[in-house]
Amino acid sequence: MGPDSRNRNPEIKYTKIFINNEWCDSVSGKTFQTYNPATGQKLCVVQEGDKEDVDKAVKAAREAFKLGSPWRTMDASTRGQLINKFADLVQRDIEYLCSLETLNNGKPYNESVLDMEGAISTIRYYAGWCDKIHGKTIPIDGDFFSFTRMEPIGVCGQIIPWNYPVVMLSWKLGPALATGNTVILKPAEQTPLTALYCASLLKEAGFPPGVVNIIPGYGPTAGAAIAEHPDVDKVAFTGSTEVGKLIQQAAGRSNTKRLTLEMGGKSPLIVFDDADVDKAVEIAHQALFANMGQCCCAGTRTFVHESIYDEFVKKSTERASKRVLGDPYDEKTEHGPQVDQEQFDKIMNLIESGKKEGAIIQCGGKRFGSEGYFIQPTVFSDVQDYMRIAKEEIFGPVQQILKFKTMEEVIQRANNTHYGLGSGIVTENIDKALMFAQSVQAGSVWVNCYDATMAQTPFGGFKMSGQGRELGEDGLKEYLEVKTITIKIPKKNS
Ligand code: NAP
Ligand code: MG
Repeated sequence: MGPDSRNRNPEIKYTKIFINNEWCDSVSGKTFQTYNPATGQKLCVVQEGDKEDVDKAVKAAREAFKLGSPWRTMDASTRGQLINKFADLVQRDIEYLCSLETLNNGKPYNESVLDMEGAISTIRYYAGWCDKIHGKTIPIDGDFFSFTRMEPIGVCGQIIPWNYPVVMLSWKLGPALATGNTVILKPAEQTPLTALYCASLLKEAGFPPGVVNIIPGYGPTAGAAIAEHPDVDKVAFTGSTEVGKLIQQAAGRSNTKRLTLEMGGKSPLIVFDDADVDKAVEIAHQALFANMGQCCCAGTRTFVHESIYDEFVKKSTERASKRVLGDPYDEKTEHGPQVDQEQFDKIMNLIESGKKEGAIIQCGGKRFGSEGYFIQPTVFSDVQDYMRIAKEEIFGPVQQILKFKTMEEVIQRANNTHYGLGSGIVTENIDKALMFAQSVQAGSVWVNCYDATMAQTPFGGFKMSGQGRELGEDGLKEYLEVKTITIKIPKKNS
C-alpha cells in the first residue's frame, strides 16, 4: 500500500442508525456533527440515537436471539465462516477504512493500517473459536451423569471509545459473535464513521437482521439507555473510570447485568541501570507517544534508575523532539492531533499543573501548528509521585520521567495508584524481571517490550482499571453462561 492509495477525501457513505440490518433516522429527529480532528472542520451530520432508538435495537437483538431464529440455529462452524467473511470484507476495503479512520480520528494513516490489521486478526481469531467452545463432563457423586454446556448470554450492549475505533469494535464484536450473542454497539460520539461502515460490511457478509445493531449517539443518552436497559443482559465498556462507575450503578439499578469494564490506567514502565539506554529510550518513547498518548495502557510513568537518569532524560528529550508531526495522511507523519477540543484542553491543563508543581519541562508543552488539536510531544523530568501529572490519566503526548534507587522502592511506587492496567520493565536481569512481574498489580506485564497485545493474550485491569478480561480465551468466557445438566441414571433392576 503506497502513499498514492491514500485517499484524503474518502466518501462518507453511512451516517444513519443501523437496526435490524436497516438504516434508520433517529426517532427524535436529532442529529449531531462529526469532525476532522486534524483541521477542526465539520465532516458530516450523523443521526443521533437515544433511548427510543436503543429500545428498537434491543427488540431487534432480542428477536434475533430467540430460540429457533436463524442465528440460534446456525451451525457453529457456519457462524465461524460468517465471522471470517466479515474479516474478508474489512480486508477488501482496508484502504478505504484506513482513510476514513484517519479522517474521523486524526491518527496517522500508518497507524490506521496497523489498527485495521490488528482488528482483522482479532476477528479471525474469534472466528476460529466458534466450533471449539466445549463444555465438560463431570464425575459427579451419586448415580448421575453431569455435563456443562457453554451458552451465549443474550443481548449484549457494547460501549466503545474513540481512541481505536475499529480495533475496539473488533475486540467487542469478535467474542460476542463467536459465542452466539446479539449486539447493540455504541461507537464514541467523536468517531462514529468507521463503525457505521463496518455495519454495512456485516450486512453484506450475511449476518441475519438484528444480530448486530449500531447506534451512533452520546454517552449520557444512548450509552446510558443501553446500560440501564432491563432487557440487555450484558454490557462491555471501554473508557474512563468515571463512566465505568456510572455503568456499574446503572447495571445494579436495572437487572444486575453482566459487566466487563476496561477503564484506563497510569501504567508504570521501569528502566533498570543494566538496560541498553538507547533501546530503553525507544521502548519508553513508543510506550507513551503511540497514538498521540491516547492509549489506555500507555506507559505514562517512566521510572528510571538514578545512575542512568540524566542520560535517559537527555536522550528521551532528543527522541521526542524528533517525532514527526503533521498531516496524518503523509507517509512520514508519526504523530497526529488529539481527538477533540475537550481532550486538547484537558491535556494542556495537566501540562500547566506539571509546570506549577515543579516538574521540569524538557521539550514540548505547546500547541503545534494553527489548526486542529495537535500538541507537541512533551517530556517532563524531575516528576514527583504527588504531582497530578504522576497520578492522573493524561491521555495525551506527555511523558513523566521519575527517578528511583531500589527494586523494593520502585515496586511500592509503581503500585501506589488505584489503576492497574499495563506495566513494563526494561532489564537484562531475569531475576529482576520476574520479581517485578510477580509484584506489580497490573493486568499485563511487558518485559523488554511494551504493549505487545495480541488477539491471543488476555487484556484487562487490576483494581480500578477494570473488571473481567478481553481477548484470548478469557475474553471469550466473558460472553458465555455455563449451564450444568445433570441426568439421573436409573439403578439396574430397580
Ligand atoms: P468516556 O466518556 O468514558 O467515553 C467512553 C464511551 O462511553 C463513549 O462511547 C461515551 O460516549 C460513553 N459514555 C459516556 N458517558 C456515558 C454514560 N453515562 N453511560 C454510558 N456510556 C457513556 O471517555 P471520554 O469522554 O471519551 O474521555 C474521557 C477520558 O477517559 C479520557 O481523557 C481518558 O482519560 C479516558 N479514556 C480512556 C479510554 C480507554 O481506552 N480506557 C478511552 C477513551 C477515554 P460519548 O462518545 O458520548 O462520550
Ligand atoms: Mg465522553
